[in-house]
Amino acid sequence: MSVEVYKTDIQQITCATLPTKWGLFDILGFEREVDSECGARIETAVALIMGDLKNLPPLLRIHSQCLTGDALGSVRCDCRGQLELAMKTISREGAGILIYEFQEGRGIGLMAKLRAYALQDKGFDTVEANEHLGFPIDRRDYVLPVEILKHLGIRKVRLLSNNPDKYAALVNGDVQVVERIPCEVLPNPYAKKYLLTKKLRLGHALSLV
Ligand SMILES: [Zn+2]
Repeated sequence: MSVEVYKTDIQQITCATLPTKWGLFDILGFEREVDSECGARIETAVALIMGDLKNLPPLLRIHSQCLTGDALGSVRCDCRGQLELAMKTISREGAGILIYEFQEGRGIGLMAKLRAYALQDKGFDTVEANEHLGFPIDRRDYVLPVEILKHLGIRKVRLLSNNPDKYAALVNGDVQVVERIPCEVLPNPYAKKYLLTKKLRLGHALSLV
């Protein structure tokens, strides 16, 4: 993997209100400049915030972009279900933060993800498909969400996630996870094999009942 250098600290670009199906959030835009062997680029993410985050360690969901699931309604994965569950859970409590970042396809990008889907159509599982294409199984890192939390002065969270890597990234970034709350939705038959692979090969805390 190429070495990346952060040219600027994370910057909050703006804040606007975002009325949603699950209530009124503020949407904050963040960006920073990154230099790597592949050239300079701007890395962005948004944070959706509801309510007072100072009362309790806030509910936190870190959601990686999934165009096919989040926007197109694909049920090959559980992304959209998890996104909706997280927003509902935050709304029910009246407070929390959802960081939406753009590491599509576990960080390999949309075109590579679609190529991996094509292999999965031929019987590969999600791990085998990535390996066959020469990609890491999961290329994501969560440095940017951790920086956003620090920028917002959030040092303790209740994490809505099944993913051990997100938990570890927060702890390694000095953000205390006082509770891990499962973010599991009823599996669609199309997603069952994918979710089972996430459970058995990637260590995700899924019950799949
Ligand atoms: Zn997805």
